[in-house]
Amino acid sequence: MHEWALAEAVISTAVEFAEKTGFEHITEIEISIGELQQIEEDPFLFALEEMLKEKSKPVDKNTKITLEKENAILKCKSCKHEWDYLNALNELDEEKVESIHFVPEVSHAFIKCPKCNSPDFEITNGRGVWINNIIGK
Ligand SMILES: [Zn+2]
Repeated sequence: MHEWALAEAVISTAVEFAEKTGFEHITEIEISIGELQQIEEDPFLFALEEMLKEKSKPVDKNTKITLEKENAILKCKSCKHEWDYLNALNELDEEKVESIHFVPEVSHAFIKCPKCNSPDFEITNGRGVWINNIIGK
């Protein structure tokens, strides 16, 4: 159900955008999905396509949807080094990865900055779903 609510939000944003810019038809909507966001890409795309079938201009069945994944990036708070979250997870054993999956805060206990060894980092990218670009004419 989450995917349908999200799809509806995307479509109404695109319609508002068309009203503001005066576009008659939206040809493409580019959406980014953070890899930490628990969105199933296929059902999300399906929901969007089903909704677009029912719509008429400015968005309709000819509006193309592109989804792209954004990698999660970790940033060390002490030395500002940035590194890839999934790579960091790959270096851990499975049991730890499981516990991080359920409680993301736990990652601070297992992942340390590869440069300065600090456990004090933040996740800077890879969260949320947003519209990257709306193309129309
Ligand atoms: Zn560091």
